[in-house]
Amino acid sequence: MPETMRAIRKLAPGPGAQLQQIPIPAVGPRDVLVQVMATSVCGTDYHIYAWDPWAAGRVKPPLTVGHEMAGEVVAVGADVTACKVGDYVSAETHIVCNNCPRCHVGEYHLCERTRILGVDTNGCFAEYVAVPEQNIWINDKDIPWDLQSIQEPLGNAVHTAMAGELTAKSVLVTGCGPIGIMSVPVAKMAGAEVVMAMDVNEYRLGLARELGADLLINPTKEDPVEVVRKQTRGYGVDVVLEMSGNAGAIRQSLKAARNGARVSLLGLPSKPLEIDLAADVIMRGLVLQGITGRKMWQTWYQVRSLYRAGLAERLKPLITHRLPLEQVGTAMELMASAECGKAVLMPGLKA
Ligand code: NAD
Ligand code: ZN
Repeated sequence: MPETMRAIRKLAPGPGAQLQQIPIPAVGPRDVLVQVMATSVCGTDYHIYAWDPWAAGRVKPPLTVGHEMAGEVVAVGADVTACKVGDYVSAETHIVCNNCPRCHVGEYHLCERTRILGVDTNGCFAEYVAVPEQNIWINDKDIPWDLQSIQEPLGNAVHTAMAGELTAKSVLVTGCGPIGIMSVPVAKMAGAEVVMAMDVNEYRLGLARELGADLLINPTKEDPVEVVRKQTRGYGVDVVLEMSGNAGAIRQSLKAARNGARVSLLGLPSKPLEIDLAADVIMRGLVLQGITGRKMWQTWYQVRSLYRAGLAERLKPLITHRLPLEQVGTAMELMASAECGKAVLMPGLKA
């Protein structure tokens, strides 16, 4: 095994990142060393790369970026029992404390002291990453590396979609970024009667169509509330999966929901926003639900079952770009342009 590796590093506060040759991470007694085969790019990575106010307040360089990954176990610490050398694995990216009240009752995704791989600890935009054993998930070996890597955001989509009933329900997905798009086939496979997908970006609406959306709505061209009500005999949808974080979309989604609808909110608004709580939520009995991360490990089991039932095949068109580590800049330009589905860095690809 080599002693050094290539890694994408944020070396100092400010925009950008550098490809560096650095030592392969040391493995503690309960850590797992993974050779990274695929590591997909998330909005969070872009925030860190671009160094937005959130990143400036949270991230402490130097840091290896990246948290969505799949790879092969190449070494394990002396006390590791969760996996063995040769296993194909991904990682739950929330490193929970195990000691707070939420962890004690098994609500690990709500841990009060959670740390995030590639945000608070060195991540996986690298040839190797060390991951605590408690975060390791073993994958089926017949799933392609890129589809193994995207299980983390897919878990966000599954956690949101599965946070209530879907069978025979009308569903509106607001925001067709990668996570919103993934929620379309998930809702379909769970038996949704109709899935409507809304975005301002035609490229992304096209991907949503390819992944099974029944109806596409572009709010810059038509009134989404009118379209949804027309499709639902005037009542509104049973379920909203809010995946945009856009204030206007959130307000419209509440108005497009039927009385008593479930509105599951995953998208993160960049600042506080105003909603008509009395008219649009309280008097209509809406159930607003904040969604964070994935349930450990229920969501991962759901993703595995859905993959085995055909979701992996259905998600293939979402992987629009596969790039070597050297082209991280290109990946970030794609993120900025939003003319992409999922971009995946493959450390084994030649630059
Ligand atoms: P993304 O930024 O790629 O997707 C957001 C989409 O919303 C884009 O396609 C954009 O065009 C669309 N959009 C913007 N304005 C819109 C409008 N008015 N109407 C409809 N669509 C509009 O993000 P993603 O990676 O797919 O993630 C989705 C959201 O979930 C983001 O806000 C992200 O920050 C958030 N997120 C939350 C969690 C969590 O744990 N809660 C985890 C991961 C991501
Ligand atoms: Zn905790």
